Amino acid sequence: GSVMEKVLQRRSLRMRNMQRSWKESPEGKRMLDFRMSLPAFREKEKLLQAIAQNQVIVISGETGCGKTTQLPQFVLESEIESGRGAFCSIICTQPRRISAMAVSERVSSERGEPLGETIGYKVRLEGVQGKNTHLLFCTSGILLRRLLSDRNLDGVTHVFVDEIHERGMNEDFLLIVLKDLLPRRRDLRLILMSATLNAELFSNFFQGAPTIHIPGFTYPVRAHYLEDILEMTGYKLTSFNQVDDYGQEKLWKTQRQLVPRKRKNQITTLVEDALAKSSFDAYSPKARDSLSCWMPDCIGFNLIEAVLCHICRKERSGAVLVFMTGWEDISSLRDQLKAHPLLGDPNRVLLLTCHGSMATSEQKLIFEKPPPNIRKIILATNMAEASITINDVVFVIDCGKAKETTYDALNNTPCLLPSWISQASARQRRGRAGRVQPGECYHLYPRCVYEAFSEYQLPELLRTPLNSLCLQIKSLQVESIGEFLSSALQPPEPRAVQNAVEFLKMIGALDERENLTNLGKFLSILPVDPKLGKMLIMGTIFRCFDPILTIVAGLSVRDPFLLPQDKKDLAGTAKSRFSAKDYSDHMALVRAYEGWRDADREGSAYEYCWRNFLSAQTLQAIHSLRKQFNFILKDARLLEEDTALNNKLSHNQSLVRAIICSGLFPGIASVVHRETSMSFKTMDDGQVLLYANSVNARYQTISYPWLVFGEKVKVNTVFIRDSTGVSDSILMLFGGALKHGVMAGHLKMLEGYIDFFMDPNLAESYLKLKDELYKLIQR
Ligand code: ADP
Ligand code: MG
Repeated sequence: GSVMEKVLQRRSLRMRNMQRSWKESPEGKRMLDFRMSLPAFREKEKLLQAIAQNQVIVISGETGCGKTTQLPQFVLESEIESGRGAFCSIICTQPRRISAMAVSERVSSERGEPLGETIGYKVRLEGVQGKNTHLLFCTSGILLRRLLSDRNLDGVTHVFVDEIHERGMNEDFLLIVLKDLLPRRRDLRLILMSATLNAELFSNFFQGAPTIHIPGFTYPVRAHYLEDILEMTGYKLTSFNQVDDYGQEKLWKTQRQLVPRKRKNQITTLVEDALAKSSFDAYSPKARDSLSCWMPDCIGFNLIEAVLCHICRKERSGAVLVFMTGWEDISSLRDQLKAHPLLGDPNRVLLLTCHGSMATSEQKLIFEKPPPNIRKIILATNMAEASITINDVVFVIDCGKAKETTYDALNNTPCLLPSWISQASARQRRGRAGRVQPGECYHLYPRCVYEAFSEYQLPELLRTPLNSLCLQIKSLQVESIGEFLSSALQPPEPRAVQNAVEFLKMIGALDERENLTNLGKFLSILPVDPKLGKMLIMGTIFRCFDPILTIVAGLSVRDPFLLPQDKKDLAGTAKSRFSAKDYSDHMALVRAYEGWRDADREGSAYEYCWRNFLSAQTLQAIHSLRKQFNFILKDARLLEEDTALNNKLSHNQSLVRAIICSGLFPGIASVVHRETSMSFKTMDDGQVLLYANSVNARYQTISYPWLVFGEKVKVNTVFIRDSTGVSDSILMLFGGALKHGVMAGHLKMLEGYIDFFMDPNLAESYLKLKDELYKLIQR
């Protein structure tokens, strides 16, 4: 004990000396000046005192006031100053991996150190930290995973849970687990941080923990709604409810027409007219639903372009931040803008994007000042809403939507819907424009629509399937999932919990008595959705690992096939070249990836991507995720060392198809052939359409009775994205009938396989079962 103590004391002294000399260096002084200008600095002593005196505190303060970068640092610095630096271990969680990475980078540079020294980060499958790391930024998911094996968080002194106002599922989950831990770890400090004032809710959850607000200031931001924007840009609303080639309703046919100033009232009337026509009642309780009907997200592109032109031509200098719904929209808008004479001119405009999986080099550009006379335009997802602060933003364009996962309780399939944001989010987005001077915010929807937004967004726990969560709860050795979740801030419906439990039983992760099976144990250590985790394990069992690995990586990153707005047809044709008549988007993905890998080896990856409408960045991400899954599966001894053995059957199409089915079930639709057309029906009898970029959308007929799919997207009708055709026998063996007949054997075999690694005597029975099954699918 005392030797260790001495070592740590020596290290603490060294840390103190380093900190002091950095603060006296010119660069360190400059950094300190900046930090002292942040609102958080003024509250420093008060905050440190509150943390010392209370086990839990709740801190609120506007985005950019210095919560994330400063507060954990204050604690660290004060520990170092008091000569206890090497004894502390601070964890600060972030809802998104990118903010964990960006913030750790920022904090280490504020301390004049390389990342991985005192400051580190850890996100899913990636991280930089060392033996001297005392402040770790990680995603909330990572901390949850750590809690699975280290239930008391031994050695950790402070936990900061950031962005709790977002009410992300992992944060809500963390709060339950931490609340349970606090009595066992009296010395542990918990600090909750929120960007909005509703700290009460959290304070009450922790028996009235004290709350501290960091008063900040932002400059006023003027709000422009659609009425004003139409006039300003000279756009006119000409028609409504047009159905475009995707079956989506298009509200606007934007048409460039100069509208004289005095016609402003007419335009306002026009908007109101439009609302009336689509029988939209902004004040009805169903307003939010009907809202999503009349304004699909494909509208705004031309409007956004017009607003950007307006800003570039007529407005003062300052960066523009455009909030969009997702990566796909961002990249198609970027392509559109690149072709624009003004907005695409690199001498006048610096066009950047900001989304969950951008490269670190691109990340840095976002924060940098552009050269003089060049306007910085950033196309961002709602990630830029609260967790990332870009200082020089003066103009914000808000499309009013964000992608939100909602939960289809009936067939247990999550839906990713672009839906209207809340008033709180709209205000938050607007606030981004007032960091350094008064700003302007352009909301691309009428004011009455804003007024119909709900006040706050529903917590994620109440709008997503709980499959993954319930599996994790089970691996915390919790008896009753329902009881555990009932102690949440806002507990989910029992029905949703029941569904998740049923689902986990169906895929074989839980047994009849709700205990974790062997399969369940493995699924809980794989950092992917349980469905995809199962697909991976099945791929190893059936020795067709490589294609399945690509598919799972692809489904957990995003679709590498690009779909530029104006070249949809060419892009679709390019994609169908990868389909080779096998009626499978998933196999098209495998071919596209393999082609890219070959092209990359020959140094022609760029050309390859360009020609085939593929995103090089996404393929790269899939590539590295593949490596990481590979590593984890080998580490868990679920995969043989011998690559050839793992891929003995990879060439077998029907087998790969079967494994895809085993993972994606119950995402299944039956193919109904009519004389000239096809339609698709899901298990709940709902009609679905194929996403236009699906290879299956290009066929007149599909020679399989079923399509399995991973994701549904609802616009007006429900679309299914990637799908793969499967036969009756595949569906019977690898799909739903898990509890019956052959599938019982199949399940046993699966468990047997896992036991096989623990007990070599089971090897023989496993091999027998596998052969039987294999013969069956071949029929
Ligand atoms: P909060 O968590 O309260 O929203 P942060 O601690 O993230 O605030 O940021 C505080 C300030 O630090 C921001 O206003 C911004 O000026 C600055 N900042 C944060 N990250 C960076 C970065 N990567 N580069 C430059 N400045 C940054
Ligand atoms: Mg923050």
